[in-house]
Amino acid sequence: MSDPKKGPLYITNTLSRRKEEFVPLRPPHVGLYVCGPTVYSDVHLGNVRSFLTFDVLYRWLTHLGYKVRYVRNITDVGHLVGDIDEGEDKIAKRARLEQLEPMEIVQKYTNGFHDVMRLFNLLSPSIEPTATGHLIEQIGMVERIIKSGYGYEANGSVYFDVPKFAEKHAYGELSGRRIDELLTNTRDTEGMEEKRSPLDFAIWKKAEPQHLMKWPSPWGEGFPGWHLECSAMSTKYLGGTFDIHGGGMDLKFPHHECEIAQSVAADGHVPVRYWMHGNMLTVNGRKMAKSEGNGFTPEELLSGNHKLLEKGYSAMTVRFFMLQSHYASTLDFSNAAMQAGEKGLERLMAAMTVLGKLKPGALDGADVTALEKRCYEAMNDDINTPVMIGELFEGVRIINSVNDGKLTLTATSIERLSTLMNTMVFDVLGLKQEQQIAGDDRAMDGLVQEFIRMRAEAKARKDFTASDAIRDRLTALGIILKDTKEGTAWERA
Ligand SMILES: [Zn+2]
Repeated sequence: MSDPKKGPLYITNTLSRRKEEFVPLRPPHVGLYVCGPTVYSDVHLGNVRSFLTFDVLYRWLTHLGYKVRYVRNITDVGHLVGDIDEGEDKIAKRARLEQLEPMEIVQKYTNGFHDVMRLFNLLSPSIEPTATGHLIEQIGMVERIIKSGYGYEANGSVYFDVPKFAEKHAYGELSGRRIDELLTNTRDTEGMEEKRSPLDFAIWKKAEPQHLMKWPSPWGEGFPGWHLECSAMSTKYLGGTFDIHGGGMDLKFPHHECEIAQSVAADGHVPVRYWMHGNMLTVNGRKMAKSEGNGFTPEELLSGNHKLLEKGYSAMTVRFFMLQSHYASTLDFSNAAMQAGEKGLERLMAAMTVLGKLKPGALDGADVTALEKRCYEAMNDDINTPVMIGELFEGVRIINSVNDGKLTLTATSIERLSTLMNTMVFDVLGLKQEQQIAGDDRAMDGLVQEFIRMRAEAKARKDFTASDAIRDRLTALGIILKDTKEGTAWERA
Protein backbone atom coordinates (compact mmCIF):
# COMPACT_ATOMS: atom_id res chain seq x y z
CA MET A 1 0.00 0.00 0.00
CA SER A 2 1.37 3.38 -0.97
CA ASP A 3 -0.30 5.14 1.96
CA PRO A 4 1.48 3.92 5.11
CA LYS A 5 -1.44 4.71 7.41
CA LYS A 6 -3.57 2.28 5.43
CA GLY A 7 -1.71 -1.00 5.86
CA PRO A 8 -0.81 -3.73 6.45
CA LEU A 9 -4.04 -5.64 6.97
CA TYR A 10 -4.17 -8.68 9.25
CA ILE A 11 -6.99 -11.21 9.10
CA THR A 12 -7.63 -14.41 11.01
CA ASN A 13 -7.23 -17.31 8.63
CA THR A 14 -9.50 -20.13 9.77
CA LEU A 15 -7.19 -22.61 8.04
CA SER A 16 -4.15 -21.73 10.18
CA ARG A 17 -6.23 -20.44 13.13
CA ARG A 18 -3.81 -17.50 13.24
CA LYS A 19 -3.91 -13.83 12.42
CA GLU A 20 -1.92 -13.45 9.21
CA GLU A 21 -0.85 -10.49 7.15
CA PHE A 22 -3.06 -10.33 4.09
CA VAL A 23 -0.97 -10.45 0.92
CA PRO A 24 -3.00 -10.84 -2.28
CA LEU A 25 -1.85 -13.16 -5.04
CA ARG A 26 -2.05 -10.56 -7.81
CA PRO A 27 -2.13 -7.07 -6.30
CA PRO A 28 -3.92 -4.72 -6.67
CA HIS A 29 -6.53 -7.38 -7.50
CA VAL A 30 -8.27 -9.36 -4.79
CA GLY A 31 -10.56 -12.34 -5.38
CA LEU A 32 -13.28 -12.74 -2.75
CA TYR A 33 -15.85 -15.55 -2.76
CA VAL A 34 -18.74 -15.73 -0.28
CA CYS A 35 -21.31 -18.52 -0.08
CA GLY A 36 -24.67 -16.95 -0.83
CA PRO A 37 -28.21 -17.92 0.15
CA THR A 38 -30.24 -20.98 -0.79
CA VAL A 39 -33.31 -19.23 -2.14
CA TYR A 40 -36.17 -21.27 -0.73
CA SER A 41 -37.31 -19.11 2.19
CA ASP A 42 -37.12 -15.61 3.60
CA VAL A 43 -33.80 -14.30 4.83
CA HIS A 44 -33.62 -13.94 8.60
CA LEU A 45 -31.42 -11.75 10.71
CA GLY A 46 -28.77 -14.41 11.30
CA ASN A 47 -28.20 -14.58 7.54
CA VAL A 48 -27.97 -10.80 7.39
CA ARG A 49 -25.17 -10.81 9.96
CA SER A 50 -23.11 -13.25 7.92
CA PHE A 51 -23.44 -11.25 4.71
CA LEU A 52 -22.79 -8.01 6.60
CA THR A 53 -19.42 -9.34 7.81
CA PHE A 54 -18.23 -9.73 4.25
CA ASP A 55 -19.86 -6.51 3.10
CA VAL A 56 -17.64 -4.62 5.55
CA LEU A 57 -14.58 -6.65 4.50
CA TYR A 58 -15.34 -5.82 0.85
CA ARG A 59 -15.76 -2.13 1.71
CA TRP A 60 -12.50 -2.09 3.67
CA LEU A 61 -10.45 -3.85 0.97
CA THR A 62 -11.85 -1.40 -1.57
CA HIS A 63 -11.03 1.53 0.71
CA LEU A 64 -7.45 0.27 1.02
CA GLY A 65 -7.18 0.61 -2.74
CA TYR A 66 -7.62 -3.00 -3.83
CA LYS A 67 -9.61 -3.85 -6.94
CA VAL A 68 -11.87 -6.52 -5.52
CA ARG A 69 -13.79 -9.06 -7.57
CA TYR A 70 -16.49 -10.09 -5.14
CA VAL A 71 -18.41 -13.24 -6.10
CA ARG A 72 -21.44 -14.27 -4.03
CA ASN A 73 -23.53 -17.12 -5.43
CA ILE A 74 -27.22 -17.93 -5.39
CA THR A 75 -27.93 -21.60 -4.61
CA ASP A 76 -30.96 -22.41 -6.74
CA VAL A 77 -30.63 -26.20 -6.95
CA GLY A 78 -28.95 -29.14 -5.26
CA HIS A 79 -29.28 -28.14 -1.60
CA LEU A 80 -31.22 -31.03 -0.09
CA VAL A 81 -33.38 -30.88 3.01
CA GLY A 82 -31.25 -31.68 6.06
CA ASP A 83 -28.05 -30.66 4.21
CA ILE A 84 -27.38 -34.31 3.33
CA ASP A 85 -27.16 -36.46 0.25
CA GLU A 86 -30.63 -38.01 0.33
CA GLY A 87 -34.02 -36.41 0.32
CA GLU A 88 -35.86 -33.63 -1.36
CA ASP A 89 -34.35 -30.51 -2.88
CA LYS A 90 -35.12 -27.53 -0.59
CA ILE A 91 -36.40 -25.46 -3.50
CA ALA A 92 -38.44 -28.28 -5.05
CA LYS A 93 -40.03 -28.98 -1.66
CA ARG A 94 -41.02 -25.36 -1.25
CA ALA A 95 -42.36 -25.32 -4.83
CA ARG A 96 -44.55 -28.31 -3.99
CA LEU A 97 -45.82 -26.67 -0.79
CA GLU A 98 -46.53 -23.31 -2.42
CA GLN A 99 -47.78 -24.93 -5.67
CA LEU A 100 -45.35 -22.94 -7.79
CA GLU A 101 -42.71 -23.77 -10.37
CA PRO A 102 -39.27 -24.23 -8.75
CA MET A 103 -38.03 -21.25 -10.76
CA GLU A 104 -40.89 -19.12 -9.38
CA ILE A 105 -39.67 -20.01 -5.89
CA VAL A 106 -36.11 -19.12 -6.89
CA GLN A 107 -37.22 -15.77 -8.34
CA LYS A 108 -39.47 -14.93 -5.41
CA TYR A 109 -36.87 -15.54 -2.73
CA THR A 110 -34.00 -14.08 -4.79
CA ASN A 111 -36.02 -10.86 -5.09
CA GLY A 112 -36.72 -10.96 -1.37
CA PHE A 113 -33.04 -11.50 -0.60
CA HIS A 114 -32.05 -8.52 -2.75
CA ASP A 115 -34.67 -6.30 -1.06
CA VAL A 116 -33.24 -7.19 2.33
CA MET A 117 -29.65 -6.61 1.18
CA ARG A 118 -30.63 -3.13 -0.09
CA LEU A 119 -32.55 -2.33 3.05
CA PHE A 120 -29.52 -3.06 5.23
CA ASN A 121 -27.32 -1.19 2.74
CA LEU A 122 -25.16 -4.15 1.68
CA LEU A 123 -23.31 -3.57 -1.56
CA SER A 124 -24.03 -5.85 -4.52
CA PRO A 125 -21.28 -8.33 -5.37
CA SER A 126 -19.35 -7.96 -8.64
CA ILE A 127 -20.79 -11.27 -9.87
CA GLU A 128 -23.77 -13.17 -8.48
CA PRO A 129 -23.70 -16.53 -10.30
CA THR A 130 -26.39 -19.19 -9.94
CA ALA A 131 -25.89 -22.94 -9.66
CA THR A 132 -28.39 -23.64 -12.48
CA GLY A 133 -26.49 -21.23 -14.72
CA HIS A 134 -23.29 -23.26 -14.28
CA LEU A 135 -24.30 -26.87 -14.99
CA ILE A 136 -21.68 -27.28 -17.71
CA GLU A 137 -18.88 -26.12 -15.41
CA GLN A 138 -20.11 -28.44 -12.66
CA ILE A 139 -20.38 -31.46 -14.95
CA GLY A 140 -16.86 -30.65 -16.20
CA MET A 141 -15.58 -30.63 -12.62
CA VAL A 142 -17.22 -33.99 -11.85
CA GLU A 143 -15.51 -35.41 -14.95
CA ARG A 144 -12.11 -34.09 -13.78
CA ILE A 145 -12.65 -35.57 -10.31
CA ILE A 146 -13.52 -38.98 -11.81
CA LYS A 147 -10.47 -38.76 -14.08
CA SER A 148 -8.14 -38.04 -11.16
CA GLY A 149 -9.47 -41.19 -9.45
CA TYR A 150 -11.33 -39.53 -6.58
CA GLY A 151 -14.85 -39.83 -7.95
CA TYR A 152 -16.84 -42.94 -8.81
CA GLU A 153 -20.18 -43.55 -10.43
CA ALA A 154 -22.82 -45.72 -8.79
CA ASN A 155 -26.27 -46.20 -10.23
CA GLY A 156 -26.35 -42.83 -12.04
CA SER A 157 -24.93 -40.82 -9.11
CA VAL A 158 -21.30 -39.79 -8.68
CA TYR A 159 -19.66 -39.77 -5.25
CA PHE A 160 -16.44 -38.25 -3.95
CA ASP A 161 -14.17 -40.92 -2.45
CA VAL A 162 -13.14 -39.26 0.83
CA PRO A 163 -10.99 -42.05 2.36
CA LYS A 164 -9.03 -42.45 -0.88
CA PHE A 165 -8.52 -38.68 -1.11
CA ALA A 166 -7.40 -38.55 2.53
CA GLU A 167 -4.64 -41.11 1.88
CA LYS A 168 -2.69 -38.55 -0.17
CA HIS A 169 -4.13 -35.18 0.83
CA ALA A 170 -5.20 -33.23 3.87
CA TYR A 171 -8.89 -33.66 4.58
CA GLY A 172 -10.44 -32.04 7.64
CA GLU A 173 -7.70 -29.43 8.06
CA LEU A 174 -10.06 -26.46 7.92
CA SER A 175 -12.58 -27.79 10.42
CA GLY A 176 -10.03 -29.66 12.55
CA ARG A 177 -11.66 -33.04 11.95
CA ARG A 178 -9.75 -36.29 11.65
CA ILE A 179 -10.76 -38.95 9.21
CA ASP A 180 -10.54 -41.82 11.73
CA GLU A 181 -12.72 -39.91 14.22
CA LEU A 182 -15.18 -39.04 11.50
CA LEU A 183 -15.40 -42.70 10.56
CA THR A 184 -16.00 -43.79 14.16
CA ASN A 185 -18.60 -41.09 14.74
CA THR A 186 -20.58 -41.47 11.55
CA ARG A 187 -23.80 -43.31 12.20
CA ASP A 188 -25.08 -42.03 8.92
CA THR A 189 -26.15 -44.81 6.61
CA GLU A 190 -28.05 -42.78 4.02
CA GLY A 191 -27.08 -43.71 0.47
CA MET A 192 -24.93 -46.58 1.76
CA GLU A 193 -26.16 -49.01 -0.89
CA GLU A 194 -24.28 -46.79 -3.38
CA LYS A 195 -21.48 -45.19 -1.34
CA ARG A 196 -18.20 -46.97 -0.64
CA SER A 197 -17.77 -45.09 2.64
CA PRO A 198 -20.23 -43.16 4.82
CA LEU A 199 -17.85 -40.17 4.52
CA ASP A 200 -18.27 -40.00 0.74
CA PHE A 201 -20.47 -37.20 -0.54
CA ALA A 202 -22.49 -36.80 -3.73
CA ILE A 203 -21.07 -34.54 -6.43
CA TRP A 204 -23.80 -35.58 -8.87
CA LYS A 205 -27.14 -37.11 -7.94
CA LYS A 206 -29.36 -39.24 -10.11
CA ALA A 207 -32.83 -37.73 -10.39
CA GLU A 208 -35.85 -39.88 -9.62
CA PRO A 209 -38.53 -39.78 -12.35
CA GLN A 210 -40.76 -37.41 -10.31
CA HIS A 211 -37.85 -35.01 -9.64
CA LEU A 212 -38.56 -31.55 -11.08
CA MET A 213 -35.09 -30.06 -11.36
CA LYS A 214 -32.82 -32.27 -13.47
CA TRP A 215 -30.39 -32.02 -16.34
CA PRO A 216 -28.80 -34.49 -18.77
CA SER A 217 -25.26 -35.58 -17.93
CA PRO A 218 -22.81 -38.34 -18.91
CA TRP A 219 -24.31 -40.34 -15.98
CA GLY A 220 -27.95 -39.85 -16.95
CA GLU A 221 -30.48 -37.25 -15.77
CA GLY A 222 -29.60 -35.69 -12.47
CA PHE A 223 -28.51 -32.60 -10.59
CA PRO A 224 -25.27 -31.39 -8.96
CA GLY A 225 -24.36 -31.93 -5.31
CA TRP A 226 -24.60 -28.81 -3.14
CA HIS A 227 -20.85 -28.45 -2.44
CA LEU A 228 -19.93 -28.57 -6.09
CA GLU A 229 -21.35 -25.27 -7.31
CA CYS A 230 -19.09 -23.11 -5.13
CA SER A 231 -15.98 -24.94 -6.35
CA ALA A 232 -17.04 -24.70 -10.00
CA MET A 233 -18.05 -21.04 -9.87
CA SER A 234 -15.14 -19.78 -7.76
CA THR A 235 -12.74 -21.53 -10.15
CA LYS A 236 -14.47 -20.00 -13.16
CA TYR A 237 -14.52 -16.40 -11.91
CA LEU A 238 -11.55 -16.19 -9.54
CA GLY A 239 -9.16 -18.83 -10.84
CA GLY A 240 -7.91 -22.14 -9.46
CA THR A 241 -6.40 -20.45 -6.40
CA PHE A 242 -7.81 -17.19 -5.11
CA ASP A 243 -7.41 -14.88 -2.12
CA ILE A 244 -10.33 -15.00 0.33
CA HIS A 245 -13.27 -17.37 0.82
CA GLY A 246 -15.89 -16.37 3.36
CA GLY A 247 -19.02 -17.83 4.84
CA GLY A 248 -20.87 -18.52 8.05
CA MET A 249 -19.22 -20.69 10.70
CA ASP A 250 -21.78 -23.47 10.12
CA LEU A 251 -20.47 -23.91 6.55
CA LYS A 252 -16.94 -24.90 7.64
CA PHE A 253 -17.91 -28.55 7.74
CA PRO A 254 -18.82 -30.27 5.57
CA HIS A 255 -19.42 -27.59 2.91
CA HIS A 256 -16.05 -25.80 2.84
CA GLU A 257 -14.06 -28.93 3.62
CA CYS A 258 -15.68 -30.55 0.58
CA GLU A 259 -14.95 -27.49 -1.56
CA ILE A 260 -11.23 -27.83 -0.78
CA ALA A 261 -11.24 -31.57 -1.55
CA GLN A 262 -13.10 -31.08 -4.85
CA SER A 263 -10.67 -28.43 -6.13
CA VAL A 264 -7.59 -30.40 -5.11
CA ALA A 265 -8.99 -33.56 -6.71
CA ALA A 266 -10.14 -31.86 -9.92
CA ASP A 267 -7.33 -29.39 -10.53
CA GLY A 268 -4.47 -30.37 -8.25
CA HIS A 269 -4.22 -27.24 -6.11
CA VAL A 270 -5.78 -25.80 -2.96
CA PRO A 271 -8.41 -23.25 -3.96
CA VAL A 272 -8.17 -20.67 -1.18
CA ARG A 273 -5.38 -18.79 0.61
CA TYR A 274 -7.40 -17.17 3.41
CA TRP A 275 -10.58 -18.65 4.85
CA MET A 276 -12.77 -16.35 6.94
CA HIS A 277 -15.82 -17.39 8.95
CA GLY A 278 -18.40 -15.14 10.54
CA ASN A 279 -19.96 -16.20 13.81
CA MET A 280 -23.60 -16.76 14.68
CA LEU A 281 -26.32 -14.47 15.86
CA THR A 282 -28.01 -15.90 18.93
CA VAL A 283 -31.19 -14.92 20.70
CA ASN A 284 -31.08 -15.42 24.46
CA GLY A 285 -28.07 -17.66 23.89
CA ARG A 286 -29.70 -19.89 21.24
CA LYS A 287 -28.79 -19.93 17.57
CA MET A 288 -31.16 -17.88 15.47
CA ALA A 289 -33.02 -20.25 13.16
CA LYS A 290 -36.49 -20.63 11.77
CA SER A 291 -36.80 -24.04 13.38
CA GLU A 292 -36.16 -22.44 16.81
CA GLY A 293 -38.99 -19.94 16.29
CA ASN A 294 -36.56 -17.10 16.98
CA GLY A 295 -35.46 -16.34 13.42
CA PHE A 296 -37.43 -13.19 12.89
CA THR A 297 -37.55 -11.65 9.46
CA PRO A 298 -36.64 -8.06 8.61
CA GLU A 299 -40.36 -7.18 8.32
CA GLU A 300 -41.01 -8.42 11.83
CA LEU A 301 -38.01 -6.50 13.06
CA LEU A 302 -39.09 -3.21 11.50
CA SER A 303 -42.66 -3.55 12.64
CA GLY A 304 -41.92 -5.06 16.04
CA ASN A 305 -44.48 -7.76 15.21
CA HIS A 306 -42.83 -10.73 16.97
CA LYS A 307 -43.19 -12.08 20.48
CA LEU A 308 -39.48 -11.53 21.18
CA LEU A 309 -39.52 -7.87 20.14
CA GLU A 310 -40.51 -5.06 22.49
CA LYS A 311 -40.75 -2.63 19.57
CA GLY A 312 -39.70 -2.12 15.96
CA TYR A 313 -36.10 -1.22 15.09
CA SER A 314 -34.75 0.45 11.97
CA ALA A 315 -32.46 -1.35 9.55
CA MET A 316 -29.57 1.01 10.38
CA THR A 317 -30.00 0.37 14.11
CA VAL A 318 -29.63 -3.34 13.38
CA ARG A 319 -26.60 -2.77 11.17
CA PHE A 320 -24.95 -0.62 13.82
CA PHE A 321 -25.81 -3.11 16.58
CA MET A 322 -24.21 -5.95 14.61
CA LEU A 323 -21.02 -4.01 13.88
CA GLN A 324 -20.58 -3.28 17.57
CA SER A 325 -19.27 -6.82 18.00
CA HIS A 326 -16.40 -8.50 16.21
CA TYR A 327 -17.43 -10.77 13.33
CA ALA A 328 -15.71 -13.81 14.87
CA SER A 329 -17.60 -13.53 18.16
CA THR A 330 -21.13 -14.73 18.72
CA LEU A 331 -23.57 -11.88 19.06
CA ASP A 332 -26.59 -12.16 21.28
CA PHE A 333 -29.69 -10.29 20.30
CA SER A 334 -31.64 -8.59 23.06
CA ASN A 335 -34.02 -5.67 23.22
CA ALA A 336 -31.75 -3.92 25.75
CA ALA A 337 -28.73 -4.18 23.41
CA MET A 338 -30.80 -2.98 20.45
CA GLN A 339 -32.07 0.01 22.37
CA ALA A 340 -28.55 0.89 23.48
CA GLY A 341 -27.47 0.59 19.84
CA GLU A 342 -30.32 2.84 18.77
CA LYS A 343 -29.21 5.57 21.20
CA GLY A 344 -25.57 5.21 20.14
CA LEU A 345 -26.42 5.50 16.48
CA GLU A 346 -28.55 8.61 17.12
CA ARG A 347 -25.64 10.22 18.96
CA LEU A 348 -23.22 9.33 16.16
CA MET A 349 -25.51 10.62 13.41
CA ALA A 350 -26.29 13.83 15.31
CA ALA A 351 -22.53 14.50 15.53
CA MET A 352 -22.18 13.85 11.78
CA THR A 353 -24.69 16.64 11.15
CA VAL A 354 -22.89 19.02 13.54
CA LEU A 355 -19.53 18.17 11.93
CA GLY A 356 -20.44 20.01 8.73
CA LYS A 357 -21.05 23.24 10.67
CA LEU A 358 -17.94 23.44 12.90
CA LYS A 359 -16.10 26.79 13.03
CA PRO A 360 -12.28 26.61 12.94
CA GLY A 361 -10.11 28.08 15.69
CA ALA A 362 -6.45 29.13 15.94
CA LEU A 363 -5.21 26.09 17.89
CA ASP A 364 -5.64 22.31 17.93
CA GLY A 365 -7.08 21.10 21.21
CA ALA A 366 -7.26 17.46 20.05
CA ASP A 367 -4.97 15.16 18.07
CA VAL A 368 -6.99 14.16 15.00
CA THR A 369 -4.00 12.43 13.36
CA ALA A 370 -3.68 10.05 16.32
CA LEU A 371 -7.40 9.31 16.17
CA GLU A 372 -7.14 8.58 12.47
CA LYS A 373 -4.24 6.22 13.09
CA ARG A 374 -6.17 4.30 15.76
CA CYS A 375 -9.18 3.89 13.44
CA TYR A 376 -7.00 2.40 10.70
CA GLU A 377 -5.20 0.16 13.20
CA ALA A 378 -8.52 -1.21 14.45
CA MET A 379 -9.79 -2.04 10.96
CA ASN A 380 -6.45 -3.51 9.91
CA ASP A 381 -6.51 -5.68 13.01
CA ASP A 382 -8.86 -8.34 11.63
CA ILE A 383 -11.65 -5.87 10.77
CA ASN A 384 -12.18 -4.90 14.40
CA THR A 385 -15.32 -2.82 13.99
CA PRO A 386 -16.19 -2.59 17.73
CA VAL A 387 -12.81 -1.00 18.52
CA MET A 388 -13.16 1.29 15.49
CA ILE A 389 -16.64 2.37 16.61
CA GLY A 390 -15.19 3.12 20.03
CA GLU A 391 -12.70 5.45 18.32
CA LEU A 392 -15.50 7.08 16.33
CA PHE A 393 -17.15 7.99 19.64
CA GLU A 394 -13.92 9.75 20.59
CA GLY A 395 -14.50 11.64 17.34
CA VAL A 396 -18.06 12.40 18.47
CA ARG A 397 -16.72 13.76 21.77
CA ILE A 398 -14.30 16.04 19.91
CA ILE A 399 -17.00 17.25 17.51
CA ASN A 400 -19.43 18.07 20.34
CA SER A 401 -16.72 19.80 22.40
CA VAL A 402 -15.74 22.03 19.47
CA ASN A 403 -19.39 22.77 18.81
CA ASP A 404 -19.92 23.71 22.48
CA GLY A 405 -16.86 25.99 22.46
CA LYS A 406 -14.98 23.80 24.99
CA LEU A 407 -12.28 22.92 22.47
CA THR A 408 -10.84 24.38 19.29
CA LEU A 409 -9.57 22.77 16.09
CA THR A 410 -7.81 24.42 13.16
CA ALA A 411 -9.43 24.37 9.71
CA THR A 412 -6.95 21.68 8.61
CA SER A 413 -7.87 19.43 11.54
CA ILE A 414 -11.60 19.94 11.02
CA GLU A 415 -11.12 18.96 7.38
CA ARG A 416 -9.18 15.89 8.39
CA LEU A 417 -11.71 14.88 11.04
CA SER A 418 -14.51 15.35 8.55
CA THR A 419 -12.84 13.10 5.96
CA LEU A 420 -12.11 10.46 8.60
CA MET A 421 -15.61 10.41 10.09
CA ASN A 422 -17.39 10.43 6.74
CA THR A 423 -15.17 7.68 5.35
CA MET A 424 -15.52 5.39 8.35
CA VAL A 425 -19.21 5.95 9.12
CA PHE A 426 -20.65 5.97 5.62
CA ASP A 427 -18.17 4.22 3.28
CA VAL A 428 -16.66 1.60 5.58
CA LEU A 429 -19.37 0.82 8.14
CA GLY A 430 -21.99 1.47 5.47
CA LEU A 431 -24.32 3.38 7.79
CA LYS A 432 -26.88 5.83 6.40
CA GLN A 433 -28.86 8.65 7.93
CA GLU A 434 -32.30 7.12 8.53
CA GLN A 435 -34.10 9.54 6.21
CA GLN A 436 -31.86 8.31 3.37
CA ILE A 437 -33.18 4.76 3.90
CA ALA A 438 -36.79 5.81 4.31
CA GLY A 439 -36.37 7.79 1.09
CA ASP A 440 -35.15 4.75 -0.83
CA ASP A 441 -38.35 3.51 -2.47
CA ARG A 442 -36.64 0.53 -4.05
CA ALA A 443 -35.42 -0.74 -0.70
CA MET A 444 -38.82 -0.16 0.90
CA ASP A 445 -40.97 -1.66 -1.82
CA GLY A 446 -40.15 -5.32 -1.23
CA LEU A 447 -40.95 -4.98 2.45
CA VAL A 448 -44.15 -3.05 1.92
CA GLN A 449 -45.25 -5.69 -0.59
CA GLU A 450 -44.64 -8.31 2.08
CA PHE A 451 -46.88 -6.38 4.50
CA ILE A 452 -49.53 -6.05 1.79
CA ARG A 453 -49.41 -9.79 1.23
CA MET A 454 -49.71 -10.50 4.97
CA ARG A 455 -52.66 -8.09 5.17
CA ALA A 456 -54.41 -9.74 2.21
CA GLU A 457 -53.97 -13.12 3.88
CA ALA A 458 -55.42 -11.81 7.12
CA LYS A 459 -58.40 -10.36 5.24
CA ALA A 460 -58.92 -13.61 3.36
CA ARG A 461 -59.27 -15.48 6.66
CA LYS A 462 -61.53 -12.65 7.89
CA ASP A 463 -59.09 -11.65 10.63
CA PHE A 464 -59.79 -7.93 10.40
CA THR A 465 -58.06 -7.16 13.70
CA ALA A 466 -54.83 -8.48 12.18
CA SER A 467 -55.33 -6.75 8.83
CA ASP A 468 -56.01 -3.40 10.55
CA ALA A 469 -52.97 -3.88 12.79
CA ILE A 470 -50.75 -4.38 9.73
CA ARG A 471 -52.15 -1.23 8.11
CA ASP A 472 -51.54 0.75 11.32
CA ARG A 473 -47.96 -0.46 11.56
CA LEU A 474 -47.32 0.73 8.03
CA THR A 475 -48.90 4.09 8.84
CA ALA A 476 -46.48 4.37 11.74
CA LEU A 477 -43.64 3.79 9.25
CA GLY A 478 -45.03 6.65 7.09
CA ILE A 479 -46.59 4.36 4.49
CA ILE A 480 -50.20 4.82 3.37
CA LEU A 481 -51.98 1.92 1.65
CA LYS A 482 -54.48 2.56 -1.12
CA ASP A 483 -56.93 -0.20 -2.00
CA THR A 484 -58.10 -0.16 -5.62
CA LYS A 485 -59.84 -2.66 -7.88
CA GLU A 486 -56.43 -3.75 -9.23
CA GLY A 487 -55.02 -4.43 -5.78
CA THR A 488 -53.23 -2.50 -3.08
CA ALA A 489 -50.73 0.26 -3.84
CA TRP A 490 -48.70 2.30 -1.38
CA GLU A 491 -47.44 5.85 -1.06
CA ARG A 492 -45.64 7.96 1.47
CA ALA A 493 -47.59 9.90 4.06
ZN1 LIG B 1 -20.50 -22.42 -0.80
